[in-house]
Amino acid sequence: RLFVDAPLDAGGRIALEREQGHYLGNVLRLGAGDSILVFNGHDGEWRAQIEGRKRPEHLALTEQTRPQETPCDLHLLFAPLKHARLDYMVQKAVEMGASLLAPTLTQFTQVSRVNTERMRANAIEAAEQCGILNLPGIDEPQPLARRLSERDGQRLLIFCDEAAPQADPLAALGAEAGKIKGLDVLIGPEGGFSEEERALLLRQPRLVRLSLGPRILRADTAAVAALALVQAALGD
Ligand code: SAM
Repeated sequence: RLFVDAPLDAGGRIALEREQGHYLGNVLRLGAGDSILVFNGHDGEWRAQIEGRKRPEHLALTEQTRPQETPCDLHLLFAPLKHARLDYMVQKAVEMGASLLAPTLTQFTQVSRVNTERMRANAIEAAEQCGILNLPGIDEPQPLARRLSERDGQRLLIFCDEAAPQADPLAALGAEAGKIKGLDVLIGPEGGFSEEERALLLRQPRLVRLSLGPRILRADTAAVAALALVQAALGD
């Protein structure tokens, strides 16, 4: 499956970028007459036939194979991590259907600059691999207090807190089913939230303070665990 940044409609024809032509021709060893599946994140999935003399140059769209899916309204708010762990977190968030990736700066966040272009490239690669048709939005980094002050109070805030009392997560989340406008899952930095941040978070409306078990998980592990639980309890 290939992501193309172009409108997809019947009879459409897409000029391949050089590296896409190289990938199809040299890596996948495909040529004129072969067909592949393409998506652009909003027009569903299409079958396309490869055209080109020496190497793949164009794609001719033949038929829509899957309609565009309705994305979950599931935002992942997370303290940015260093490269490989951030790459992993982005990849898993895409697989879990996150519709927005929102880097959130906290007192103990160890990363100051976030490469959102790298995040987008990883999101596209994850979507190509797992077959999801929706690409998540990628927000610019914001401090925690500002993100909380700007969020819609109708959305459910799922604060993943290793200090939370152990409770049945599916029951806690399930109790909110049917009443929510959207879901914000918040994961802290490797150094955890400060006491001031925890106090600010516990004052938020529509809050579920979620324990992911008795062990301290790495932030990227916690993101996967939380998104899996949320999808299991509330996924549509
Ligand atoms: N404060 C932790 C400590 O004492 O070492 C470190 C934070 S942990 C590495 C990073 C983030 O993952 C936390 O801020 C929290 O959001 C989430 N997390 C980790 N383990 C968790 C658990 N058992 N339950 C809920 N959230 C957890």
